[in-house]
Amino acid sequence: MSAEVRQFPCLSDNFGVLIHDPESGTTVAIDVPDAAPYLAILEDTGWKLSHILITHHHWDHVQGLDELKEKTGAHVIGPERSRQKIAGLDKTVEDGDKVSTGPYTVEAIGTPGHTIDQISWYFPDLKIAHTGDTLFSLGCGRIFEGDAEMMWASLSTLKRKLPVDTTIYCGHEYTQSNARFSLTIEPDNAALKTRAIEIDTLRAAGKPTLPTTMAQELATNPFLRADEPSVKAALGMTDASDAAVFAEIRTRKDNA
Ligand code: ZN
Ligand code: FE
Repeated sequence: MSAEVRQFPCLSDNFGVLIHDPESGTTVAIDVPDAAPYLAILEDTGWKLSHILITHHHWDHVQGLDELKEKTGAHVIGPERSRQKIAGLDKTVEDGDKVSTGPYTVEAIGTPGHTIDQISWYFPDLKIAHTGDTLFSLGCGRIFEGDAEMMWASLSTLKRKLPVDTTIYCGHEYTQSNARFSLTIEPDNAALKTRAIEIDTLRAAGKPTLPTTMAQELATNPFLRADEPSVKAALGMTDASDAAVFAEIRTRKDNA
Protein backbone atom coordinates (compact mmCIF):
# COMPACT_ATOMS: atom_id res chain seq x y z
CA MET A 1 0.00 0.00 0.00
CA SER A 2 1.28 3.48 -0.79
CA ALA A 3 0.37 7.11 -0.28
CA GLU A 4 1.29 10.60 -1.35
CA VAL A 5 2.17 12.67 1.70
CA ARG A 6 2.37 16.45 1.88
CA GLN A 7 3.87 18.18 4.89
CA PHE A 8 3.78 21.97 5.02
CA PRO A 9 4.35 24.78 7.53
CA CYS A 10 1.40 26.27 9.40
CA LEU A 11 1.40 29.24 11.82
CA SER A 12 4.92 30.00 13.10
CA ASP A 13 6.36 26.52 13.68
CA ASN A 14 3.52 23.99 13.31
CA PHE A 15 3.16 21.43 10.55
CA GLY A 16 0.17 20.45 8.48
CA VAL A 17 0.10 16.94 7.02
CA LEU A 18 -2.03 15.44 4.24
CA ILE A 19 -1.98 11.75 3.31
CA HIS A 20 -3.55 10.88 -0.04
CA ASP A 21 -4.43 7.58 -1.71
CA PRO A 22 -4.76 8.15 -5.47
CA GLU A 23 -6.67 4.93 -6.06
CA SER A 24 -9.58 5.49 -3.66
CA GLY A 25 -9.30 9.28 -3.55
CA THR A 26 -9.03 9.16 0.24
CA THR A 27 -7.29 12.20 1.71
CA VAL A 28 -6.51 12.42 5.41
CA ALA A 29 -5.44 15.57 7.27
CA ILE A 30 -3.71 15.37 10.62
CA ASP A 31 -4.37 18.38 12.89
CA VAL A 32 -5.48 21.76 11.55
CA PRO A 33 -3.38 24.63 12.94
CA ASP A 34 -4.74 26.82 10.16
CA ALA A 35 -7.28 26.06 7.42
CA ALA A 36 -5.78 28.26 4.70
CA PRO A 37 -2.65 26.23 3.84
CA TYR A 38 -4.74 23.03 3.76
CA LEU A 39 -7.30 24.60 1.45
CA ALA A 40 -4.52 25.91 -0.81
CA ILE A 41 -2.97 22.44 -1.21
CA LEU A 42 -6.34 20.76 -1.72
CA GLU A 43 -7.11 23.32 -4.42
CA ASP A 44 -3.71 22.86 -5.99
CA THR A 45 -3.80 19.05 -6.07
CA GLY A 46 -7.51 18.59 -6.65
CA TRP A 47 -7.59 16.23 -3.68
CA LYS A 48 -10.90 15.98 -1.85
CA LEU A 49 -10.47 15.89 1.92
CA SER A 50 -12.24 12.87 3.41
CA HIS A 51 -10.93 12.62 6.99
CA ILE A 52 -9.37 14.82 9.66
CA LEU A 53 -7.51 13.21 12.57
CA ILE A 54 -6.82 15.32 15.67
CA THR A 55 -3.93 14.63 18.08
CA HIS A 56 -4.95 16.87 21.01
CA HIS A 57 -7.01 19.85 22.03
CA HIS A 58 -4.41 22.66 21.98
CA TRP A 59 -5.46 25.64 19.88
CA ASP A 60 -2.45 25.38 17.57
CA HIS A 61 -3.69 21.93 16.46
CA VAL A 62 -7.42 22.62 16.09
CA GLN A 63 -7.71 26.31 15.31
CA GLY A 64 -8.55 25.75 11.63
CA LEU A 65 -10.79 22.73 12.21
CA ASP A 66 -14.17 24.47 12.00
CA GLU A 67 -13.35 26.17 8.72
CA LEU A 68 -11.71 23.13 7.12
CA LYS A 69 -14.59 20.87 8.11
CA GLU A 70 -17.16 23.34 6.90
CA LYS A 71 -15.48 23.81 3.52
CA THR A 72 -14.71 20.13 2.86
CA GLY A 73 -17.31 18.14 4.80
CA ALA A 74 -14.55 15.84 6.04
CA HIS A 75 -15.21 13.30 8.80
CA VAL A 76 -13.41 14.34 12.01
CA ILE A 77 -11.92 11.82 14.43
CA GLY A 78 -10.26 12.84 17.69
CA PRO A 79 -9.60 11.88 21.29
CA GLU A 80 -12.55 10.81 23.44
CA ARG A 81 -10.81 12.48 26.38
CA SER A 82 -11.33 15.91 24.83
CA ARG A 83 -14.81 15.34 23.45
CA GLN A 84 -15.95 18.39 25.47
CA LYS A 85 -13.05 20.59 24.40
CA ILE A 86 -13.00 20.10 20.63
CA ALA A 87 -16.06 21.18 18.67
CA GLY A 88 -16.86 19.21 15.52
CA LEU A 89 -15.67 15.70 16.39
CA ASP A 90 -17.75 13.13 14.48
CA LYS A 91 -16.09 10.16 16.14
CA THR A 92 -13.85 9.75 19.16
CA VAL A 93 -11.21 7.17 19.99
CA GLU A 94 -9.33 5.86 22.98
CA ASP A 95 -5.99 4.13 23.27
CA GLY A 96 -5.86 1.02 21.09
CA ASP A 97 -8.87 1.85 18.93
CA LYS A 98 -8.52 1.29 15.20
CA VAL A 99 -10.35 3.36 12.62
CA SER A 100 -10.62 3.03 8.85
CA THR A 101 -9.82 5.98 6.64
CA GLY A 102 -10.43 4.71 3.11
CA PRO A 103 -8.00 1.85 2.54
CA TYR A 104 -5.88 2.71 5.57
CA THR A 105 -6.31 1.28 9.03
CA VAL A 106 -5.16 3.82 11.59
CA GLU A 107 -4.39 2.92 15.16
CA ALA A 108 -4.91 5.42 17.97
CA ILE A 109 -2.05 5.11 20.42
CA GLY A 110 -2.80 6.94 23.65
CA THR A 111 0.34 8.92 24.54
CA PRO A 112 -0.63 11.25 27.41
CA GLY A 113 1.79 13.60 29.14
CA HIS A 114 1.88 16.84 27.13
CA THR A 115 -1.90 16.71 27.43
CA ILE A 116 -4.05 13.93 28.87
CA ASP A 117 -6.00 13.49 25.62
CA GLN A 118 -2.96 13.13 23.33
CA ILE A 119 -3.28 10.51 20.59
CA SER A 120 -0.46 9.38 18.30
CA TRP A 121 -1.85 8.19 14.96
CA TYR A 122 -0.20 5.09 13.48
CA PHE A 123 -0.69 3.89 9.89
CA PRO A 124 0.92 0.41 9.99
CA ASP A 125 0.23 -0.25 6.28
CA LEU A 126 2.20 2.88 5.37
CA LYS A 127 4.80 2.62 8.14
CA ILE A 128 3.92 6.19 9.05
CA ALA A 129 3.07 7.66 12.46
CA HIS A 130 2.10 11.17 13.54
CA THR A 131 3.11 11.72 17.14
CA GLY A 132 1.50 15.13 17.69
CA ASP A 133 3.22 16.98 20.52
CA THR A 134 4.42 13.79 22.21
CA LEU A 135 7.54 12.84 20.26
CA PHE A 136 9.43 15.53 18.34
CA SER A 137 12.63 15.08 16.40
CA LEU A 138 15.31 15.14 19.13
CA GLY A 139 12.70 16.20 21.66
CA CYS A 140 9.37 15.62 23.29
CA GLY A 141 6.45 17.84 24.24
CA ARG A 142 6.45 19.91 27.38
CA ILE A 143 4.51 18.25 30.17
CA PHE A 144 1.45 20.42 30.73
CA GLU A 145 -1.24 18.03 31.97
CA GLY A 146 0.52 14.82 32.93
CA ASP A 147 3.74 14.10 34.78
CA ALA A 148 7.19 12.86 33.83
CA GLU A 149 6.36 9.25 34.62
CA MET A 150 3.32 9.40 32.33
CA MET A 151 5.31 10.98 29.50
CA TRP A 152 8.10 8.42 29.83
CA ALA A 153 5.49 5.64 29.71
CA SER A 154 4.05 7.19 26.53
CA LEU A 155 7.46 7.46 24.85
CA SER A 156 8.18 3.87 25.91
CA THR A 157 4.92 2.80 24.27
CA LEU A 158 6.00 4.44 21.02
CA LYS A 159 9.39 2.69 21.28
CA ARG A 160 7.63 -0.63 21.73
CA LYS A 161 4.91 -0.20 19.11
CA LEU A 162 6.62 1.62 16.24
CA PRO A 163 9.06 -0.43 14.16
CA VAL A 164 12.44 1.22 13.57
CA ASP A 165 11.62 1.88 9.92
CA THR A 166 8.52 3.93 10.80
CA THR A 167 8.47 7.43 9.30
CA ILE A 168 7.60 9.94 12.03
CA TYR A 169 5.67 13.17 11.50
CA CYS A 170 4.93 15.47 14.42
CA GLY A 171 3.37 18.79 15.40
CA HIS A 172 6.31 21.19 15.38
CA GLU A 173 9.58 22.20 13.76
CA TYR A 174 11.61 22.46 16.96
CA THR A 175 14.49 20.27 15.83
CA GLN A 176 17.30 22.81 15.64
CA SER A 177 16.94 24.02 19.22
CA ASN A 178 16.33 20.42 20.32
CA ALA A 179 19.63 19.44 18.70
CA ARG A 180 21.55 22.09 20.62
CA PHE A 181 20.02 20.85 23.86
CA SER A 182 20.54 17.16 22.99
CA LEU A 183 24.25 17.80 22.53
CA THR A 184 24.46 19.05 26.13
CA ILE A 185 23.19 15.63 27.28
CA GLU A 186 25.21 13.48 24.88
CA PRO A 187 28.13 15.53 23.53
CA ASP A 188 29.92 12.36 22.38
CA ASN A 189 27.02 10.74 20.51
CA ALA A 190 28.42 10.47 16.97
CA ALA A 191 25.02 9.93 15.30
CA LEU A 192 23.69 13.00 17.11
CA LYS A 193 26.63 15.15 16.04
CA THR A 194 26.11 14.13 12.40
CA ARG A 195 22.38 14.78 12.65
CA ALA A 196 22.95 18.22 14.21
CA ILE A 197 25.06 19.27 11.21
CA GLU A 198 22.41 17.91 8.82
CA ILE A 199 19.75 19.92 10.68
CA ASP A 200 21.72 23.17 10.46
CA THR A 201 22.15 22.62 6.72
CA LEU A 202 18.44 21.90 6.21
CA ARG A 203 17.33 24.93 8.23
CA ALA A 204 19.84 27.22 6.52
CA ALA A 205 18.24 26.15 3.22
CA GLY A 206 14.76 26.82 4.64
CA LYS A 207 13.88 23.12 4.55
CA PRO A 208 11.98 21.11 7.19
CA THR A 209 13.84 18.59 9.37
CA LEU A 210 10.76 16.35 9.50
CA PRO A 211 9.74 13.67 8.87
CA THR A 212 12.25 11.67 10.84
CA THR A 213 12.41 7.93 11.46
CA MET A 214 12.11 5.85 14.58
CA ALA A 215 15.64 4.48 13.98
CA GLN A 216 17.08 7.98 13.84
CA GLU A 217 15.27 9.09 17.00
CA LEU A 218 16.29 5.96 18.91
CA ALA A 219 19.92 6.73 18.08
CA THR A 220 19.85 10.47 18.79
CA ASN A 221 16.87 11.67 20.84
CA PRO A 222 17.89 11.89 24.52
CA PHE A 223 14.24 11.77 25.66
CA LEU A 224 13.92 8.28 24.11
CA ARG A 225 17.30 7.29 25.47
CA ALA A 226 16.72 7.83 29.20
CA ASP A 227 17.05 4.05 29.67
CA GLU A 228 20.51 3.92 28.01
CA PRO A 229 23.33 3.21 30.47
CA SER A 230 25.54 5.73 28.62
CA VAL A 231 22.95 8.50 29.09
CA LYS A 232 22.46 7.64 32.75
CA ALA A 233 26.23 7.71 33.25
CA ALA A 234 26.56 11.05 31.44
CA LEU A 235 24.05 12.52 33.91
CA GLY A 236 25.68 10.90 36.94
CA MET A 237 22.48 8.85 37.44
CA THR A 238 23.78 5.31 36.89
CA ASP A 239 21.45 3.75 39.46
CA ALA A 240 18.39 5.91 38.82
CA SER A 241 15.19 4.59 37.25
CA ASP A 242 14.54 5.26 33.55
CA ALA A 243 11.64 7.56 34.46
CA ALA A 244 13.81 9.54 36.89
CA VAL A 245 16.47 10.03 34.21
CA PHE A 246 13.79 11.09 31.74
CA ALA A 247 12.41 13.56 34.33
CA GLU A 248 15.88 15.05 34.82
CA ILE A 249 16.35 15.52 31.05
CA ARG A 250 12.89 17.10 30.74
CA THR A 251 13.61 19.47 33.66
CA ARG A 252 16.93 20.51 32.13
CA LYS A 253 15.21 21.24 28.81
CA ASP A 254 12.48 23.26 30.53
CA ASN A 255 15.17 25.35 32.19
CA ALA A 256 17.47 25.58 29.18
ZN1 ZN B 1 0.31 20.98 22.15
FE1 FE C 1 1.51 22.22 19.63
